[in-house]
Amino acid sequence: MTRSTPLIEALDLTKTYGATQALRGASLRLDPGEILAVTGPSGSGKSTLLHCLSGIVRPDSGSVRYGGEQLDQASETRRSELRRSEFGVVFQFGQLVGELTALDNVALPLLLAGTSRKAAQEGAGEWLERFGVRGQAGLRPGEMSGGQAQRVSLARAMVTRPKAVFADEPTGALDSLAGEQVMTALVHAARESSTAVLLITHDAQVAAYADREAQVRDGAVVSETGAEVTR
Ligand code: ADP
Ligand code: MG
Repeated sequence: MTRSTPLIEALDLTKTYGATQALRGASLRLDPGEILAVTGPSGSGKSTLLHCLSGIVRPDSGSVRYGGEQLDQASETRRSELRRSEFGVVFQFGQLVGELTALDNVALPLLLAGTSRKAAQEGAGEWLERFGVRGQAGLRPGEMSGGQAQRVSLARAMVTRPKAVFADEPTGALDSLAGEQVMTALVHAARESSTAVLLITHDAQVAAYADREAQVRDGAVVSETGAEVTR
């Protein structure tokens, strides 16, 4: 069985912060359109791995390949351009702009990409609709529930139709019902638009939404299960 060409492939990454070796030879690939859950104990290096794959930080050694590019060697300018246009990122606390309405938060990536104001707001409205928060379009983040704010964050991450979305414990601060609604919305939207998702989670139930799971221990990926065996 042939495996598709990876969208992003990280090989043998190391990253040290002071005396802490956050990554010690971590390798991981993300295939086009797949939903990959990354699990592991707190402090095992999951977030650092996500930061290296999404170009937020550069590894000390090892390589991160995205298409024909070496992300680990790309300039800060190029890496932030990729994060604006081809990747979407969501964190545990959505990090929405507090002064902007939900609609304007989601329109922002489109405006930065040069879309007209009218088209950006139309696009933003559609993504709010898809995530079930169109009714909150005029609210600021502080006026919404945590689950609503995370759905707005996901809409913002998907509005540019990225190749990959990186989500670092997006439901970690939510109760289980809100968490499940956020996950269902993310998985549905990602499948519909063939967006790959790298999803860090502690929650076994959340991991069950994924096509594949990679387990991280002590700065390395120790096990990958799932689609590999069925492809
Ligand atoms: P996880 O997401 O699995 O909890 P992290 O990747 O955040 O793990 O962290 C791995 C290790 O690296 C931890 O010991 C953490 O304290 C350390 N670490 C991560 N980022 C930094 C940083 N920016 N500065 C210092 N230490 C860090
Ligand atoms: Mg983390």
